[in-house]
Amino acid sequence: MAKSFYHFNPKTLTYEKVKISFKHLFKRVVWVFASGVAFALVFVWIGFYFVDSPKVKLLERENNELKTEVEYLDGRIDLMSEVLADIEDRDDNIYRSVFETDPVPREERYPLIAEDTRFDSLSRSDANKLLKSANKKADQLMVRLAAQSRSLDTLARLAGSKADMLAAIPAIRPLKNMYTITSGFGKRYHPVLKTLRNHTGVDIAAPKGTPIYATADGIVSRENPGSGYGTCVLINHGYSYQTLYAHMSKAAVRPGQKVKRGQLVGYVGSTGMSSGSHLHYEVLKNGQHVNPIYYFFIDITPEEYNSLLESSKKINQALS
Ligand SMILES: [Zn+2]
Repeated sequence: MAKSFYHFNPKTLTYEKVKISFKHLFKRVVWVFASGVAFALVFVWIGFYFVDSPKVKLLERENNELKTEVEYLDGRIDLMSEVLADIEDRDDNIYRSVFETDPVPREERYPLIAEDTRFDSLSRSDANKLLKSANKKADQLMVRLAAQSRSLDTLARLAGSKADMLAAIPAIRPLKNMYTITSGFGKRYHPVLKTLRNHTGVDIAAPKGTPIYATADGIVSRENPGSGYGTCVLINHGYSYQTLYAHMSKAAVRPGQKVKRGQLVGYVGSTGMSSGSHLHYEVLKNGQHVNPIYYFFIDITPEEYNSLLESSKKINQALS
């Protein structure tokens, strides 16, 4: 049933029927519909730009969590890189020099890696920049690990063919427990002579009677290194290596005797020019004194090695 519309005419004081054409009605319908759509669009726009939906909030939280994870990962890569740097250092300066092999060339450990474009499509947010840098560092780490692994393969081959030479290198510590290195190698204040002298070995403070062990295979020398050393044992290891154990309370081997690495050679004491119970230990290569610390590498962890190195640097008064 069609609806009728009326209009009040004040002149005639009557209601008159209003005639509405179809065209007029259609225009009104279209106008109402268009303004409705326009209002809806404005609300959607406001909602989109100014109000976060629960889904957006969830994504934001996830994004923050991911950023924290990436930062943590980045820190761990840095730590691994530091540990590897220590290994590389020992490899170049100790292991490879023992076999008279040149250090691993720098370009082998740090080759120029082509710019990584895998993550270029990611947005430039902080988290993505960090992710990109972490990936770059991880790539570098993998290259360095591969170079280190190759270097150790080379050394393993050399070691296989140089077993005798290895047995001649003073590679263990002369005392089972290192106690304290009271004096390192190099310029030290002499406690008895009261002058600055070159300290040709390391002093390890230990109780009198502590067993002392040969640090490599060899033959006990017949030569006398000097009276200042008190009761001492000098061992010729071959391959131009010698070791000296001085200020002993008692020797356990005789000149000309063959000894094996780890064999008892005497006991700690304070004989000769000494100011307390300790072992004065020297390593000679081609008749030249070298820092014995650099040769402790078979029975020692990297941490122990570092702390030995540190303690041998600090103290500057020798027990002689
Ligand atoms: Zn000394």
